[in-house]
Amino acid sequence: MKAAVLEKRGAEGLRVRDFPKPQRQPGEALMRIRAAGVNRVDLYMRDNGVGITHQLPLILGVEGAGEIVEADPDSGLKPGMKAVTYTQFCGRCRYCLAGEQPLCESLRIAGEHRHGFFAEYISLPTRCFIPLPDTTDLVEVAALPSAYLTAWRMLFGKRQLRPDETVLIVGIGSGVAVACLQLARIAGARAIVTSSSDEKIRRALELGASHGINYRTEPVSKSVLALTDGKGVDMVIDSVGEASWGESLRSLRRGGRLVTCGATTGSNPPADLQRVFIRQLEIYGSTGGNLAEFRELIGLYSSGKLRPVIDRRYALDDIDSAFGRLQRGEQFGKLLITIE
Ligand SMILES: [Zn+2]
Repeated sequence: MKAAVLEKRGAEGLRVRDFPKPQRQPGEALMRIRAAGVNRVDLYMRDNGVGITHQLPLILGVEGAGEIVEADPDSGLKPGMKAVTYTQFCGRCRYCLAGEQPLCESLRIAGEHRHGFFAEYISLPTRCFIPLPDTTDLVEVAALPSAYLTAWRMLFGKRQLRPDETVLIVGIGSGVAVACLQLARIAGARAIVTSSSDEKIRRALELGASHGINYRTEPVSKSVLALTDGKGVDMVIDSVGEASWGESLRSLRRGGRLVTCGATTGSNPPADLQRVFIRQLEIYGSTGGNLAEFRELIGLYSSGKLRPVIDRRYALDDIDSAFGRLQRGEQFGKLLITIE
């Protein structure tokens, strides 16, 4: 089968080539992949990969959707059925038994710990597949498992964002930030965004953001305080890290919460502990979402209330262009690879 395979680190180490088709094992289903999402972690795997147990060569791609080709007769999955996949979890550890699959002690993320979705086929345990109606747009649904599920858990997981609250979304444009904006608006909350691009701010306002702050020309926290009667926002979503951390903390109201799901500018910001304890701020990390949250998200999508924002689609042969656009931060929404 055709696949985008990482053979060695760096851009030239990712090659689209022939690769052995996976053999389905009992308890698994084989899927013909039609679309796969591109994520920051793909760049990390391509260029670094430190701290993630894996071997090369490795097919990259952490999320995707397609059609079932083969499955066990009693699995509930049938050939031709459309499906989207959830991360491979063990189903037996203390976290899985508590329904908290993202914390699974034996989590095997496609494109990180095992072969991923930038390929024609993937075989995964039956429990990882969510069947979809025949009318589902497989490209759209392939945008959901990573950015949209991460956004869902950040907004509604630990401390639910309420309709009377305001959230600040740092760095609008990334898949997860755009997902947060859409989901916050669906929940009825007010959303303020930041960007260095007036064009991205304009797009965010179209999606329902109440204000956009261009951080190159305006100090973020000062503008946020002006927009919130001097109080600050209830929640900040920050996937930028070091570069935005200080302004994110200064934008929070007393008792507010900062949720982090990424560190694209660095992992070690100044903590500003005095501000954290005096103002009783909450800071917590989030990644992915559990299976129940994923089912809720797919339900929202299937109801027609949520349409993921897709920036561009690329053929598998053109995967380097997708990675380039992501690396330059030019996208607004999700980048998808289609696999014909
Ligand atoms: Zn587990």
